[in-house]
Amino acid sequence: MDAIAAGYAIDLHTHSLRSDGALTPEDLVRRAAGRGVRIQALSDHDTLAGVAAAVVTGNELGVRIIPATELNTESEWGDAHVLGYFIDPADAELEDRLRWLRENRGRRIELMVEKLNVLGYAVDLARVLDIAQGGALGRPHLAQALFEKGYVKSYDDAFSTLIAKDSPAYVQRVGLTPIEAVTLVREHGGVPSLAHPGTVVGLDELLPKLVAAGLAGIEAYYGEHTPEMTARCLDRARRLDLVPTGGSDFHGRGEHGTDLGGVFVPPETIERLESRRGRA
Ligand code: AMP
Ligand code: FE
Ligand code: FE
Ligand code: ZN
Repeated sequence: MDAIAAGYAIDLHTHSLRSDGALTPEDLVRRAAGRGVRIQALSDHDTLAGVAAAVVTGNELGVRIIPATELNTESEWGDAHVLGYFIDPADAELEDRLRWLRENRGRRIELMVEKLNVLGYAVDLARVLDIAQGGALGRPHLAQALFEKGYVKSYDDAFSTLIAKDSPAYVQRVGLTPIEAVTLVREHGGVPSLAHPGTVVGLDELLPKLVAAGLAGIEAYYGEHTPEMTARCLDRARRLDLVPTGGSDFHGRGEHGTDLGGVFVPPETIERLESRRGRA
């Protein structure tokens, strides 16, 4: 397939080695460019560390990089992940909060390694850190370490048997609630959108609370959504005056099943998101 025809022009959800993705920010942007992406949000978990490098490569290859982060939360609302767009990588106060979240990630993974060791899975924290290469630690790094050791048949298998919620080696996150995550993004001038709403428990009760806290978008376009789910998200967007956003959630290990630029995002999305800046 012709490179440009391979992907859509906008991808607002991507991960690099600065968190739990497998590619450097530079290689990620190169791959996105090769697939026809022209606007890309680098949305690493709890960090903006990859943005500067992504912008350099983006400038070379004609990809506009939108600085972003994805905040995974802990609450009774299931997997509620908040994407924050247009945040400033030089915001020191925000970086303090993100550093706290990253430290919590580190401690959580250490505890999960200890649990795995007790369960008889001899994964080594040093190897997990090596896999992460300094990126914000996450369960995908642990999944890779388990896979390398032959304890699981695949990366997904690591989640379903050992490290997903309610699995034997799972440890709860210490972090923000979804409302706190939306508030944090707003307090620092960003535009928050709710990532992959299908993983939220109690979505229709949570959404109005998030809107009251400043939520501006909802990730309606997502690889794992059925057409019905996308339609329901678009309906919620209309009712709650949210901008429908979308992206691949590409990490580089085949998870979520979508390559960079693999999800259609309407061209007016960026302008609509930008119009929500500074509007808490
Ligand atoms: P963490 O932030 O450490 O809790 O890890 C969350 C990450 O793990 C997300 O970015 C997902 O990409 C990935 N993940 C979560 N659940 C699964 C799953 N069942 N299979 C594969 N990857 C998953
Ligand atoms: Fe991730
Ligand atoms: Fe997510
Ligand atoms: Zn993500």
